[in-house]
Amino acid sequence: MQVTWGEATDVGRVRRSNQDYLYTDGRLFVVADGMGGANGGEVASKLAVEGFVSRAVGALDGRTLKSAVAGANQDVFKEGQAHEELAGMGTTLVAAVVSDEPEAPRVLVLNVGDSRGYILHDSDLTQITEDHSWVGELLRAGKLSPQEAEVSASRHMLTRVVGVAGDLEPDMWEILPRPGDKILLCSDGITNELADPEISSILMSGADAKSMAEELVRRAVEAGGLDNATAVVIDFGPAGPEDAPAPLQMARTGLSVPRTMVPPAPVTVTRQSAPLRGPDLMQIPQPLSRSNFTKAGTVLRILAFLAALALVIGIGVYGITNYVRGSYFVGVSNNRVAIYQGRPGGLLWFAPHLVTVRDLRLSDLPSAYASELRSGVPEPSFAAASKYISNLQAQAKQFSQVGPGTTTTTTTTTTSGAG
Ligand code: MN
Repeated sequence: MQVTWGEATDVGRVRRSNQDYLYTDGRLFVVADGMGGANGGEVASKLAVEGFVSRAVGALDGRTLKSAVAGANQDVFKEGQAHEELAGMGTTLVAAVVSDEPEAPRVLVLNVGDSRGYILHDSDLTQITEDHSWVGELLRAGKLSPQEAEVSASRHMLTRVVGVAGDLEPDMWEILPRPGDKILLCSDGITNELADPEISSILMSGADAKSMAEELVRRAVEAGGLDNATAVVIDFGPAGPEDAPAPLQMARTGLSVPRTMVPPAPVTVTRQSAPLRGPDLMQIPQPLSRSNFTKAGTVLRILAFLAALALVIGIGVYGITNYVRGSYFVGVSNNRVAIYQGRPGGLLWFAPHLVTVRDLRLSDLPSAYASELRSGVPEPSFAAASKYISNLQAQAKQFSQVGPGTTTTTTTTTTSGAG
């Protein structure tokens, strides 16, 4: 069996950097999709791939390969702990390891996260891996239909990620490929843009592996390119006339995999006819957001938010305090005209503060002024308030000369007299 391969990757049309990382050498094939702030995603995917490859060289036993993933996980985890700007970074990883037996190679596929492995066998495209995503878990639990899963807003929430916690175990699958088969490893930048029929038609095009990988990436970018897109195609050679059709030989292998990586917490799920409760929820790992993997990251985010909130409140309190301290109004104290600092009736927790009482009785003023003063007449400064009272005193003088009942006339006379 002649094994050939090809790969392609593209940053896409939206992202500024390519956080996917791949490796191929004819025996080991790896795709990783990194995520995390700053350049954490790029660091995580590269570290994970290199960490895995360095430990997996020459190995084809499940135990060694699984511990290679665990070792890669440690590499990323420690790097994230050692560098503040990389804290919380993580990555998916999907790997195919092909044995050296040229007549009947054996392939082990390992995965963590939602980067996928597929096999095309007898014109049928089968997803080898299971997505370690919140939606994937719901799908397998029968709580979500495939149609709902495709459009779910939670489909980017991963439940297992390389580099986020100290311990990690990948899922593992063993496959006995036949001539004519193709294995595809790809990041979600491919599968979010291309439906299965489109992927199979490219894998059945008869082109060489490199061209197929390039076509998958090109079409994903063309279809939207919302994410980095990476594809690795392994071609197990054309089926000869002597190769009779045979069922796909693929099985999950290895040790038991814990289904719950983190303590479950109640999570409300939309698109759900009946809410998940108790045992149902307990079986499903708590989702981790792609951009927010660690508790440390969450705490930092919350602290940053609280600091920003405190700043906004501080600025608000400062502004209101200044506003209130700089405000005066003319009001009444014990039936005398007085100047208050603050706002009439008070503002929030600031009660008006009596500054001075003037020798002017309310009863000496026309009644229209009296009711206005009782509710408070705002003035921009203490001087303006004093001026207002001087005017009132002049009014009171006029009022006492003319007598009550002719307020309007009095006012008009005073105004024109002052002018
Ligand atoms: Mn991606």
